[in-house]
Amino acid sequence: MLKKISIIIPTYNEEKNIGFLVTELNKVIATLNYHVEMVFVDDGSTDNTLTEIKVKAEIYSYIFFIELSKNFGKDYALKAGINMATGDAIITMDADLQHPPALIAQLINLWEKGNDIVYTYRKDANPDSNFYSRFSSRLFYKVINSLSEIKLEDGISDFRLIDRKVANQLKQIDECEIFLRGIIKWVGFIQIGIPYTPSKRYKGVQSYSFLKLMKLAISGIMSFSVRPLYVTAGIGLLFSLLPLFYLPYILISYFAHYAISGWASLIATIVFLGGLQLFTLGIIGVYVGKIFIQSKKRPNYIIRSTNIFKLDSDFIRI
Ligand code: UDP
Ligand code: MG
Repeated sequence: MLKKISIIIPTYNEEKNIGFLVTELNKVIATLNYHVEMVFVDDGSTDNTLTEIKVKAEIYSYIFFIELSKNFGKDYALKAGINMATGDAIITMDADLQHPPALIAQLINLWEKGNDIVYTYRKDANPDSNFYSRFSSRLFYKVINSLSEIKLEDGISDFRLIDRKVANQLKQIDECEIFLRGIIKWVGFIQIGIPYTPSKRYKGVQSYSFLKLMKLAISGIMSFSVRPLYVTAGIGLLFSLLPLFYLPYILISYFAHYAISGWASLIATIVFLGGLQLFTLGIIGVYVGKIFIQSKKRPNYIIRSTNIFKLDSDFIRI
């Protein structure tokens, strides 16, 4: 029996890319000896993306859509797609053609050779990025690698193939803040990474702002590790030892009847330590906040409509 490949594409305001992407993917699919399903997950687009997808779904029986009820973020859209895909292997890729469809055959090939996860990382910088975003991207991977227990390649992307058994594991994970690139590394299995050269975005604009990336970075680090807590505890210990060095000065001054000066240093120390305490409290606060959100057990995403008929019937509203 022919195996089935699911291709999952999250979309957020990509109306001008859908047509071209489907054409390109169709070319690739024609060369493959597999059943294929394309699942577009529309992440609350405010343009005609969904209509474009629905038009394609009318033409091609292997094209499906999942409409989320609002913009949840790419990782959640991907999770929705992975949860509903039915393939023996699942490929996730962007809609803007930055992830070259021509690489799909290679991903499948490496999967057939026994790899459970075939991920890709950028060999060259994203052609759409400027100096600033390149710098922040590099910083992001440096910080995440040093502050959490997983190691991510510089420029690791969401263009990847995962085996059905990996997808089944991912389905079980319902953390409130998903950082898929990290989770995929964390699950283990047999993984292989291949470098790729990202293309230029075909049409439209990149929707990840600096602020969104910062949020992703903090959430990525904090949801993967409690190492920041250990680091702040270490700094706290270090500073509590510092006065010991000051003690001889105080004693000598006392016995030699020197006046102990130091208003300025006193204020500086108080302000510095006060700041450090607030910073530490902030870190603890973020973790507490995560527990709070997780304890509410809200769903990661909400589906407004879909043409995948394997859902509970009350979910379907097309
Ligand atoms: N995307 C999404 N939800 C969002 C933002 C982006 O589903 O809130 C999708 C977008 O449509 C694209 C992919 O995620 O298919 C990558 O987005 P983008 O090109 O803006 O970011 P990049 O990864 O190139 O920085
Ligand atoms: Mg892009």
